[in-house]
Amino acid sequence: MLKGVPTLAGRNLRLLTVHHRAKASAAEPAEQLDQETDLLKRAKFGHTGKQLQQKISTEKKLRAPPLLNLVFANRKLSFYDPSSTPKTKEDNAKLNQRRHYSMRPHREQEQRNAEDVLFDMFASEETGLISMGKFLAGLKTTGIRRSDPRVRELMDNLKKVHKLNNYETGSSAETQHLNRETFKAVVAPNIVLIAKAFRQQFVIPDFTSFVKDIEDIYHRCKTNTLGKLADYIPQLARYNPDSWGLSICTIDGQRFSMGDVEVPFTLQSCSKPLTYAIALEKLGPKVVHSYVGQEPSGRNFNELVLDQNKKPHNPMINAGAILTCSLMNALVKPDMTSAEIFDYTMSWFKRLSGGEYIGFNNAVFLSEREAADRNYALGFYMRENKCFPKRTNLKEVMDFYFQCCSMETNCEAMSVIAASLANGGICPTTEEKVFRPEVIRDVLSIMHSCGTYDYSGQFAFKVGLPAKSGVSGGMMLVIPNVMGIFAWSPPLDHLGNTVRGLQFCEELVSMFNFHRYDNLKHLSNKKDPRKHRYETKGLSIVNLLFSAASGDVTALRRHRLSGMDITLADYDGRTALHLAASEGHLECVKFLLEQCHVPHNPKDRWGNLPVDEAENFGHTHVVEFLRSWAEKADLSSEECKTEAVTSTTQADEEICSTSDLDTSPAASPIPTPVGGSGRSSPVPSDAGSTASAGSASSIDDKTKPGL
Ligand code: GLU
Repeated sequence: MLKGVPTLAGRNLRLLTVHHRAKASAAEPAEQLDQETDLLKRAKFGHTGKQLQQKISTEKKLRAPPLLNLVFANRKLSFYDPSSTPKTKEDNAKLNQRRHYSMRPHREQEQRNAEDVLFDMFASEETGLISMGKFLAGLKTTGIRRSDPRVRELMDNLKKVHKLNNYETGSSAETQHLNRETFKAVVAPNIVLIAKAFRQQFVIPDFTSFVKDIEDIYHRCKTNTLGKLADYIPQLARYNPDSWGLSICTIDGQRFSMGDVEVPFTLQSCSKPLTYAIALEKLGPKVVHSYVGQEPSGRNFNELVLDQNKKPHNPMINAGAILTCSLMNALVKPDMTSAEIFDYTMSWFKRLSGGEYIGFNNAVFLSEREAADRNYALGFYMRENKCFPKRTNLKEVMDFYFQCCSMETNCEAMSVIAASLANGGICPTTEEKVFRPEVIRDVLSIMHSCGTYDYSGQFAFKVGLPAKSGVSGGMMLVIPNVMGIFAWSPPLDHLGNTVRGLQFCEELVSMFNFHRYDNLKHLSNKKDPRKHRYETKGLSIVNLLFSAASGDVTALRRHRLSGMDITLADYDGRTALHLAASEGHLECVKFLLEQCHVPHNPKDRWGNLPVDEAENFGHTHVVEFLRSWAEKADLSSEECKTEAVTSTTQADEEICSTSDLDTSPAASPIPTPVGGSGRSSPVPSDAGSTASAGSASSIDDKTKPGL
C-alpha cells in the first residue's frame, strides 16, 4: 500500500518543476524571477534552486513561530533534538556559559520549524511516514474540522498529492501516508492555524475535556421530555418532539456538534437580533432607537402594546422586529424591491454563518402569513401610532417579517452565527468582518435583557448571558469572547422557550464560570475551560524559579507558606536550587535545603546538579556548602538504611523512601521533616507540599544534616 510513497516528494517535485519551467520560459525575463518565486511559493512541492528554497524556508520561519510545547490527546509532548544535546562535560560547560537563566526557551528547538515538529509528532518510526488520517484526527480533537475554510489549502494539497501520485497509496487523499518533505509542503499554507491548534492556543485549550462535559449535559437534557410543540402553524406542530441538536463554535472556530444538528428548522424569532444588527450597522443606534426602545416589555412577545413613547419596547419582541423590518425597507435599502431586500438580508445571514446552510421554507412563510392576525394587528396598531418611518409599505414590511421568520437553517450554521456575535462581528471560520463590534455590543445587550420572552429576567439572572430563543425550538446562546452555542429542540415551555435548550443553558453555567457575573478571580467552584491546564503550574514554576534566581529569600518563604511545591522543575528539569546555586545565592540555597528540605541533588536535562552550576559559575561558597550538605546527606542515608535493616517499621519505610516528585536513586536521601523539630523555622510544619512524610516528626532531626 505504501510502496510508492517514499518517492512521492521526488515525483511531485519533478512534475511541478516541469510545469514551472514551461511557464517560466514563456514569460518576460524581468517577470521571470517574480513568477519563479511566486510559483515556487505556491507550488510548495517544488524544490528547484537552493537559493529559492532557502528563501522560502526563511519566509516560513518568519511566518510560523517555532512549535515548542505541543499537546496532543491531553499529553504534553516535549521535543528534543538529539543532535543539539551536548554529550561531553566540556559541551555542558560551554552551554552553561552561554546560558544565564535556565528559564530561557530552547534555542535548538526554536531552530526547528513547526512543520518538522508536527511531522515528528505523528510520523511512524517504522515507516518514517506520517499518516494523514491520524494527523487530521489529531487536528479534530482541537476542534478544527477538515471542512474548515482555514484549512482548505491543506485539504486541496492532499488531493493534489494524491492525484500526482496516481492515487497509488491505496488510500484516500485524507488517509494517505506522506514523507517529511511532502508533509511540510502540504501543511505549509495553513501552518499558523495548525500550530496554534496543537499548541493549545485556542480560547478553549483543552477542547476534548470541554466537549466531554458538554456531552454529559447534552445527555441529561435528552431525557427531559417536558414541553409542547408550537401548533399555531402545521409545519411547527409536525416536528418530532425527540429532536435534540447542539452545536458549538468558539471564537477560534473550534467546532463541536451533537444530535440532530443538520435537521433544518426555521429561524423564527432567532432572526430578530440579526435584522436588528443589520439596521444598526447601516443606520446607527441613534436612528434605530428613535423608532424602537431598549426596555424589556414585561408583557407577552406578541402583545398589542407600545411603550410610553409610543414605540415598540425592544427589537426582540414581534412589534419591535416588525418595526426593524420597516427600517430595512424604508431606510436601509429604500430603492430595493422586496425580492432584493430578501436576498440582501439573506446574504448578511450567510456571511455571519460563514457560508453554512441558510435557506428558506416557503410553506412556513405561507402559513405564517395565514396565521398572522396578531402580527397584522400589531402592524396596524403601530401605523395608527405613527411608529413607522415615512414611505413604509405595511404589506411589504409584514411579508418581509414573515420571510425572515421563515428562513431555514440548522444547528451547525446557527452556532457559527452565534460565534460571530461572540467574536465581535467577525465570523470565526471565514475571518470576515461582518459587523462592527459596537453593533454587536448593542445586539448582545438587548439579547441579554429581552432575548427569552417573558423568561428574560430570570434567564439574565440565572444564566447571565445574551441569548435568543424562537418558537421553532431554537436557542442561540452567546458567550462573549468565547463561543456561540445553538441548541435546538422543538418542545417549548409555557413561555415559548425550548425546554431542553433552556436546561442546557442553565446546566452549562452551573458547570462553567460563563455567567456574566461569575467572578473569574475568586470563584473557584466552577470550571474555567478558557484556562490552560498547565497555566497555573507554569506560572508557579516561573514565580518560584525567578525568586530563586534573583536571590529573593522572602519571596521563597512566601511560596513555601502558600503551600507551593518547592521541588517544581522547569521544562529543562531545573529547580529553584539549580538557579539559586548558579547565581551564587547562598542564603537561598540554605533556605531551600534547611527549611524546605528540597533534594540537594536533582539533575537537570543535561545531567547537571546544583553543585555543578555553582562550580561552573565560580561560586565557591555555595559549592562548599552544597558539598558538605551532600556528604552529610549520604551519611544520614547510610544510617537510615542500616537502621531499616535491623528493624523496619512502616514509619521507617516512609522516612527512607524518596519524595514522590523525584523517585530517581539520586534523589534526596533526606527525609521530609514535619512538626516541631526544636529548630527555629519560620515555616509551619504542614505549610508546603514538599513536607510529605507526616509521620516522621519524632525522628526526622537525627537524619538531617547540618543540625
Ligand atoms: N413567526 C412567529 C411570530 O411572529 C415568531 C414567533 C417567535 O419565534 O417568537 O409570531
